[in-house]
Amino acid sequence: MSNNGKTFSNDILRHKAFLKRLQNGGNVVVAEGYIFEFERKGYLQAGTFVPEVTIEHPDLVRLMYEEFVHAGSDVVLAFTYYAHREKLRLIGREDDLDKINATALRMAREVADKHGCLMAGNICNSSVYLPDDESTHAITEEMFKEQIVLAVEHGADYIVGETFGHIGEGMLALECIKKYGNGLPAVITMSAPSGHTFIDGTDIVDGIKSLEDAGAAVVGLNCGRGPETMLPLLKEIKQVCKGPVAALPVTYRTTSDEPTFFSLTIPGTKSRAFPLDLCACLCSRQQIAEFARECKNIGIEYVGLCCGNSANMTRIVAEAYGRTPPACKYSPAMEKHFIFGEKSKFKNEYTDKLRAHIGGDFD
Ligand SMILES: [Zn+2]
Repeated sequence: MSNNGKTFSNDILRHKAFLKRLQNGGNVVVAEGYIFEFERKGYLQAGTFVPEVTIEHPDLVRLMYEEFVHAGSDVVLAFTYYAHREKLRLIGREDDLDKINATALRMAREVADKHGCLMAGNICNSSVYLPDDESTHAITEEMFKEQIVLAVEHGADYIVGETFGHIGEGMLALECIKKYGNGLPAVITMSAPSGHTFIDGTDIVDGIKSLEDAGAAVVGLNCGRGPETMLPLLKEIKQVCKGPVAALPVTYRTTSDEPTFFSLTIPGTKSRAFPLDLCACLCSRQQIAEFARECKNIGIEYVGLCCGNSANMTRIVAEAYGRTPPACKYSPAMEKHFIFGEKSKFKNEYTDKLRAHIGGDFD
């Protein structure tokens, strides 16, 4: 990519564009959560969770990129999550690795350029890596490498390594981005389990700090936990990290008793909610707004939502961070609703009768 002066200077600009946004108190809003959203729409299988939709219905992926930007995402995160060798092997589509990644990346760059957004490449948990088995480290490195190289080729502004449960795997992702990423900045977000340590026993806060010390441009948490159980960790992380911190929770009502979305039960039952019935545990829009405001208060610089995200929730986060994306044109205006709105705007008799018949307290 850097064989002539023009592309070289473009590369330099790309490397700087992301970091520039984070300077002087700047922040970045990022929509994640494609896997669950496509499963909900009927284009992706729960269980395997492989993003085949990218090559089977590329226009729908482009549309979701557009929707998230319209709702306020500053970044088009290329939908290459779980488009890695191990996941593709699971469904016998290893041969499609280049095609699925290249398609997702190419469209992400196009949509980002159209709207003046950033574009990020994406690698994630390998489901291969074991801390004490070095042979798995080599396999994981190869998996990271092939996706990182493709992201660089398609002009990513930075690369996200996300949803790691072992600090060693997060560290390996960072090393690979440094080694194969042509100097692009790395955002490393770990998935915090239920306790205060990662799966390999590393303290969560110490682990996140070690990623910052090792040169990640942004460090933090994504996936796994919902707003309520991620926030206490974020506050601790903010105390020790000097650079930008990321927060992208799942949009479910995790609690101290059920701290991750894997552990959630359907309210009123003992049945596991993950993944098919998580809708029964979805955060209210109000809860998402409170989370976003709290993140802003504690100085989270890289904010968004992971599994369970949808455009309306991204808009809430974007608005809390002072954005006015095109979707704000349609932000709620319930004062104009014929039952719940301002009484003076509607014929009282009509509204009063409706209110009397539908139940509830409206005043
Ligand atoms: Zn997630």
